[in-house]
Amino acid sequence: MFRVFFRTILCICFLICCFTAAVCQAAESDLQQSIAAIEARIESYVPDTNYRDDVFGLIVVKQAIVSLKAGSGGIGACLVDAKTGKLVETGRNRQYSPYFRSDMHAEMDLLNRYEDRLKKKGGSNSTNDPRKCGDLILFTSTEPCPMCLTRIINAGIQHMYYINPDLEGGMAHRMEHLPKFWREFAAGRDFRQAECSPVLRKIAEDLFRHSVRSFAKKRKK
Ligand SMILES: [Zn+2]
Repeated sequence: MFRVFFRTILCICFLICCFTAAVCQAAESDLQQSIAAIEARIESYVPDTNYRDDVFGLIVVKQAIVSLKAGSGGIGACLVDAKTGKLVETGRNRQYSPYFRSDMHAEMDLLNRYEDRLKKKGGSNSTNDPRKCGDLILFTSTEPCPMCLTRIINAGIQHMYYINPDLEGGMAHRMEHLPKFWREFAAGRDFRQAECSPVLRKIAEDLFRHSVRSFAKKRKK
């Protein structure tokens, strides 16, 4: 009697394990297909000349898909010299790969790379102001979070354009809620949504939503 009961329990456990594995495999397959579909949209996209920022918008979504495929958030960023139109630096979200780094949002990665490469000297009391960034424009595929926005302000970036607005977690559209110091520090900066086509904006949004879906669900509880 006990043996029959024990075997039955074992069989049930085995079936549950098989079912769970099949569900996980199906979910992983759906995820990969979804990422591949976004990548195909990016690869076939040609910048729309009616939108001033489309070329750089495409560059940041290309960075974002690399992040997503690597297991991190689907957000990319770049720095552009407004005078020459040249790409100065690129960055992407590296929060979960190769290992967890809570600070490695795309904008942080971008500015780390830029500042580590330039190694500017000087300080707040020096005549040599390391925050002078000339006409650099920071493009990011999704509106910066509070951490990244204050980093951008502190870095001295005067122009920041985001492709996809993040009304839930973004900070750029509510600059008036920054602490007084940061509000004054940011005074006169040109922070706004980039001029990109609706098609490119939707790609940036899908890249972002893809990576934060689980967080968003938790946030709404
Ligand atoms: Zn951020």
